[in-house]
Amino acid sequence: MKRIKKNSNGEFPATLKEAVQGKDQSSSNLFGIDIKHFKHTLDLFKYSLDYAEAIVNTVREPLVILNKNLQVITANRAFYQTFDILPEKLENRPFYELGGGELNIPKFRTLLHRVLRRGTSFNDFEIEYHIPHKGKRTLVLNARKFYRQINSTQTILLAIEDVTKQRDFEKQKDEFASVIMHELKTPVSTINGYLQLLEAHLSKRDDKKLLDYTENMGDQVMRLTSLINGLLNSSKIRAVGFEYHERIFDINELIVETIKNIQKTTKTHHIAQEGRVVGYVKGDRQRIGQVIMNLLINAIRYSPNAEKIIVRTSIKDPKVIISVEDFGIGISKVNQKKVFERFFRLNGTNEETYYGVGLGLDISSQIIHHYKGKIWIDSVEGKGSTFNFSLPLYQT
Ligand code: ADP
Repeated sequence: MKRIKKNSNGEFPATLKEAVQGKDQSSSNLFGIDIKHFKHTLDLFKYSLDYAEAIVNTVREPLVILNKNLQVITANRAFYQTFDILPEKLENRPFYELGGGELNIPKFRTLLHRVLRRGTSFNDFEIEYHIPHKGKRTLVLNARKFYRQINSTQTILLAIEDVTKQRDFEKQKDEFASVIMHELKTPVSTINGYLQLLEAHLSKRDDKKLLDYTENMGDQVMRLTSLINGLLNSSKIRAVGFEYHERIFDINELIVETIKNIQKTTKTHHIAQEGRVVGYVKGDRQRIGQVIMNLLINAIRYSPNAEKIIVRTSIKDPKVIISVEDFGIGISKVNQKKVFERFFRLNGTNEETYYGVGLGLDISSQIIHHYKGKIWIDSVEGKGSTFNFSLPLYQT
């Protein structure tokens, strides 16, 4: 019979000792321990270990165990597969050195140390990580501290979830919502403009019944507008992936038409056109019209105390240049560089006066760059802004 070794304190391992305590002392007895029962407990213990290991290795989430120096003790199969790494390249090394230091994020290390120090846990720490052959992935990390009974050391169990697919899906959904909502905004504001015209017309004729109808329609359009704006605000939207329908069109005709449409939507501003050009552009007429519209809507919106907006057109062969000048709040030099960034809003807190989401100029510059044009701004804070863009002329 094998002898059971005591540890340095002269005791048997705590868990086993506990397991056999209180049992009757039968014939095969060593140091007051029932050997039969001890064997049975050992089997159970082994079985539990195998069972736990089987679970850990079946779990599809990568799991890794770190010691108190944040070095890897071991990891499960999913971990080695996901990160495409061999155990010998991982074990006994600092975890944050994985992937050439991509995990060496100060905040992440602080969180891990805090888990060890305070016994706390953390959930949903999101990082971007480059996995060989898989590219950039979005990973979510969750950590718990636990004791290793075997040698009473503190360890961290780190569970890693690859949420790249979910995030991509969310992003696509947001992008889709964003494009739809933005596309809806323009026709709805045009309808609103026509409604106001109709109301003005009807009030001259003193037609109460029809005025009632238009008022009701106006209420519904307002609801629709706030719904669209709400949706635009609620999703972390982005705008990409336009479809372009090319054709050759008269640029001056488009400018005249767009000014006419926007003029109908405002009673406060007069839009003047200076300089007419004879020239053609090859591109998506509607999208380029959308750019002029965005600039005009902004010019009106960001010049609440002014009455005039000027649209200038000139030709600098081989390009046509279109400028929209307002006499409004203007933009400081520092912010002029940022206005074309997605979601950039200068007046973010002043929602009442300057409603918007910071997408219009981003979309406009995407469209202009698509046609190898340029978009830029001249502005003096407090005096006004001129937004300019150029497009290559179609050469016959
Ligand atoms: P928004 O929907 O917020 O107007 P834009 O992308 O069209 O989004 O504009 C981004 C930001 O640029 C606006 O929030 C505003 O601060 C600033 N901006 C745009 N046009 C003008 C303008 N004509 N005058 C002053 N500021 C402007």
